[in-house]
Amino acid sequence: MTVRVLVDHRAGEPKLVRHPEKAHRPDNPIQRKPSWIRVKAPNSPIYHETHALMRANGLVTVCEEAACPNIGECWSQRHATMMIMGETCTRACSFCNVATGQPDALDAGEPNRVADAVAKLGLRHVVITSVDRDDLPDGGAAHFAAVIRAIRAAAPATTIEVLTPDFLRKTGSVEVVVAARPDVFNHNLETVPRLYPTIRPGARYFQSLRLLDNVKRLDPAIFTKSGLMVGLGEARPEIMQVMDDLRVADVDFLTLGQYLQPTVKHAAVAEFVTPEGFDDYARVARAKGFLLVSATPLTRSSYHADADFAALQAARSHQLAGASA
Ligand code: SF4
Repeated sequence: MTVRVLVDHRAGEPKLVRHPEKAHRPDNPIQRKPSWIRVKAPNSPIYHETHALMRANGLVTVCEEAACPNIGECWSQRHATMMIMGETCTRACSFCNVATGQPDALDAGEPNRVADAVAKLGLRHVVITSVDRDDLPDGGAAHFAAVIRAIRAAAPATTIEVLTPDFLRKTGSVEVVVAARPDVFNHNLETVPRLYPTIRPGARYFQSLRLLDNVKRLDPAIFTKSGLMVGLGEARPEIMQVMDDLRVADVDFLTLGQYLQPTVKHAAVAEFVTPEGFDDYARVARAKGFLLVSATPLTRSSYHADADFAALQAARSHQLAGASA
């Protein structure tokens, strides 16, 4: 049985200890952020409207659960990334601020509440992500598909991007999500393979790559996307190798952002990569053939996802026009 202690999470809402598995780890002091990592304070009227709509619909967002630094900017433009299947994850990655433990049963009403929020926000493009649900027989694939279908019904003009877990290699799960036809299928590799045992211990690098490859084989019309955090101690040649692996899997869109340490119990930042360093990675990635690359210190999987989706479509049209010329 998992025993967790009550502490404050959001103002006025008592919550359980978020990371019981990390409680006894030695502290990693949090480094001061460099001058190029500056974010807007979350205080615009639209930010508060977005917050109120999420609470009114009983929705969880990764923006809050992951303590994303971009929340002020994104929510001020009504861009919230909804996290389905609860707020408790069955994994315990050492970079992630999402709470760990035994999740609740799936909520059958959630797909319609997500769809209602998407319609009310008037989103052109929405990103839906989830916690890992290794406790479910399909890893949560059918619930992802139900959310996609509900959004299609409530907001048919909205394009849909899913950012999924690896479904714990459960047979048939990826096929279920692909059959619901999201516009973008994102699955993050997160880091280089050498660092998986310490940073992403519950996952397998080549399994994640295979998942992305499978999506493209099952439905080549779906854009595939993956992301990495940098600053965890990886070496440049290792990032180059991951880019090559992603291109072999025919992944369209690569995101690269700076890892930021959520608490003293999480993995330490090994390096703050400079904006010029990100520009260098972006230049190399474009040369390797990705349709789109987003590489800045504050890039996150869902950051500017609506504008990026438009850019992806334009890049594919350009590519197809070039191929038929
Ligand atoms: S970058 Fe993504 S997770 Fe962060 S606030 Fe924006 S939408 Fe939310």
